[in-house]
Amino acid sequence: MAEGTEKGGRMIPEKVKIGGHQYTIFFPYLFRERDNLYGQHDHAQKEIRITGVDTCGAERAKSGIIVTFIHEVLHGIDFNSGHQIFNSELGERALEGMAEGIYQVLIDNGWLTLQNKD
Ligand SMILES: [Zn+2]
Repeated sequence: MAEGTEKGGRMIPEKVKIGGHQYTIFFPYLFRERDNLYGQHDHAQKEIRITGVDTCGAERAKSGIIVTFIHEVLHGIDFNSGHQIFNSELGERALEGMAEGIYQVLIDNGWLTLQNKD
């Protein structure tokens, strides 16, 4: 079983459509130039990159990885809408709060689970 996958399906999808654009998701991605990134939305390449390890090289919790995925999708929505309201330090913090909030709603309503399905 490849890293980043689980029985019953991948924890993070390989592709996502945002605003009519097909994005490729690279997970687990190893950021070589900047080790302080958990994720990155690249609108030019239509790519989302998400690391599976923290800044010390330790494996990240599934919940954190999914929040990062939601966070990067929100960046894509924000960029493709033309608003770019989250494109600042304050906006980045607001977007992180939105990502955590969406994750909580998905988990607490049973629409998303971290359990393996087998
Ligand atoms: Zn961000």
